[in-house]
Amino acid sequence: MVHLLFTLLTLFIMQQDPNKRIAPFQMQPLPYAREALTPAISAETLDYHYGKHYRGYVEKLNELVRGTALAECTLEELIRDAEGPIFNNAAQVWNHEFYFSALSPAPAHEPSGPFREAVNRWFGSFELLKADLTKACLSLFGSGWVWLVEEESGRLAIISEPNAGNPLRYRMRPLLVIDVWEHAYYIDYRNARAKAVEALWPLIDWRVVSERYVERD
Ligand code: MN
Repeated sequence: MVHLLFTLLTLFIMQQDPNKRIAPFQMQPLPYAREALTPAISAETLDYHYGKHYRGYVEKLNELVRGTALAECTLEELIRDAEGPIFNNAAQVWNHEFYFSALSPAPAHEPSGPFREAVNRWFGSFELLKADLTKACLSLFGSGWVWLVEEESGRLAIISEPNAGNPLRYRMRPLLVIDVWEHAYYIDYRNARAKAVEALWPLIDWRVVSERYVERD
């Protein structure tokens, strides 16, 4: 019954906006070479993280929606409205693309423009934002994601989500995500999550995050 309602809802959404993507979902290319982020993130980690884990979510999602009305939904629609395995795999695809695309071998090390002003306003300083993000990464129990988001009110906030959690569910605008699943760092750092998070700072491209902030739908 729930499934039927969801299918009807999906058909309704599709009717509202006929210019939908065509299934199947495709992997987004990694925007740098596998060895580009060494030594902080090894090529072997990216072989597994991008080449096996992320690939697995894309393939599983395609398998789950194939032949159903959901095959023509966008990832964002599935994240907002789906439940269970379809939500989990859709969100894991989106989250990984968002995560990989904010890393760079030649990043801007600091925020700029209006985003920098917002960081100062809501966190006091860029250093305090990083400290808060680190704290959230270290205190998230088990697997999940730490997000910097803009709430509907315009306030910037950090939220921790278990498993595949994604702030689009709560009508928040994601700006940055840190993957704290063990698969993101276990090859390079074993169980030392603190070291893995520390190693990430020189790779986060704050230009990308600053641009995400000023982009408006
Ligand atoms: Mn991951």
